Amino acid sequence: MEKTVVIVGGGPGGYVAAIRAAQLSGKVTLIEKKQIGGTCLNVGCIPTKTLLQAAEIYEQAKQAKKFGIEATVTGFDWAAVQKRKDRVVGQLVKGVQGLMKTNQIEVLQGTAAFLDDQTLEVVSAEGEKINLSPERIILATGSQPFIPPIDGLNKVDYLNSSKALSLETLPASLLIIGGGVIGIEFAFIFNQFGVAVTIVEEQAEILPAMDQELAGQLRKKMTKAGINFVLGRRVTQVQKQKDEIQLSMGEEMLVAEQLLVAVGRRSYLEGLGLENTRIQIEKGRLLVNDQLQTTVDHVYGVGDCTGQILLAHYASAQGERAAENALGANQAFNGYATPGCVYSDPEFAGVGLTEQEAASRGIHYHVGKFPMKASGKALAMDRTYGMVKVLIEQKTDKLLGVHLLCERATDLIGEAAMVLRQGGTVEEINETIHPHPTVSEVVREAALAAKKQAIHIP
Ligand code: FAD
Repeated sequence: MEKTVVIVGGGPGGYVAAIRAAQLSGKVTLIEKKQIGGTCLNVGCIPTKTLLQAAEIYEQAKQAKKFGIEATVTGFDWAAVQKRKDRVVGQLVKGVQGLMKTNQIEVLQGTAAFLDDQTLEVVSAEGEKINLSPERIILATGSQPFIPPIDGLNKVDYLNSSKALSLETLPASLLIIGGGVIGIEFAFIFNQFGVAVTIVEEQAEILPAMDQELAGQLRKKMTKAGINFVLGRRVTQVQKQKDEIQLSMGEEMLVAEQLLVAVGRRSYLEGLGLENTRIQIEKGRLLVNDQLQTTVDHVYGVGDCTGQILLAHYASAQGERAAENALGANQAFNGYATPGCVYSDPEFAGVGLTEQEAASRGIHYHVGKFPMKASGKALAMDRTYGMVKVLIEQKTDKLLGVHLLCERATDLIGEAAMVLRQGGTVEEINETIHPHPTVSEVVREAALAAKKQAIHIP
């Protein structure tokens, strides 16, 4: 007999869960209060990457002469850049809507809230209400920007990532609080389009969760490109002064036309009526067990609202597993070896342990490094900045982590994730014949270097 499944939230956690539940013969209803596709499609992964692509094209066009190409770049049309971004988002949203139809998933536009453990009330924008009591519920309500308690911040008109994506005009200068992935990607976009960008980061280095040697190399490249960094400083006050925003860090001060706050995101569970249920939250996150069940057996939780790894591919992987479990699989979710990616220039991607993590766990490891300037393909592409690192366990040769600061790093990291997930050794990479000339060869060269067998470095 087909089971009724209701999914709350249409982001990459929720819509993927909906499709998998439908594939498993569930009778599926998806409830979304804004726009299907969630943060990722509408105001996250996709619009940022579309703007970054425009920034890259602009930069490459300016470099054409290096390649012997006569081209005159006279500037850019910001409105057209924005229009293209909206077109790409629109097309993908339509695509997901189509997938809902072909999978016979009913989509309800409205806000869902629990009346009790069994019942969800859905209120449409027009105020119409319906109650649903499905056999299974999957919560995928996502996250929202975290706003730090900085004195004066609530009195100024600052940008969050969503607002920063759809600015009609560009400011002359921009301060970004936060040197994490979102702050770094916006710095690239705005710097490329002529905005004077300064990033303020509390930690001593940007991207604290990533390999810190490579993060430092990326920061050096960004500094060369004109982006300013103020590291190891905590912003204590924000003030509006005439047309400018002023940030204080103790005695030091910074001013700019606009401010972007990008210090991370927190689970979004507001208005969901959890207080009417036995569903528990812990430190603001939806509490789930290893099978992604909440503290109420027939209710599951996936994606950012569980506050684990706030990435789209992690949300989707959880969505697939939760749907399978809701329909009887009862299998644990395994999020091991989830890659982290930064769409910088060059791209930065990592999976598994960083050197700092391996060291702090007392693991004895070898690290193989390969500089991009030794890659033929990178030279042909004029993309020689960066380095690749492979960490292996000293005794066993087991792969521990791979960190790439190079062209197409975000595409290349999949190979490393697969070997790590299989519990493989460095030989899995070294014995695999990689195509030449490609950037993918650098992963193998660094893996060979970890065994002191690199071919193309002394
Ligand atoms: P969401 O995508 O946030 O979807 C949740 C949905 O639930 C929303 O549509 C919301 O309207 C709906 N909802 C909430 N409450 C209710 C309710 N009560 N009733 C009905 N509907 C409700 N991740 C990556 O992996 N790669 C990237 O490159 C990347 N770039 C990013 C860039 C930016 C600027 C941002 C902000 C995020 C980025 N992320 C990226 C993170 C990624 O967007 C999230 O991890 C992902 O969207 C989480 O998916 P989700 O399904 O858990 O939640």
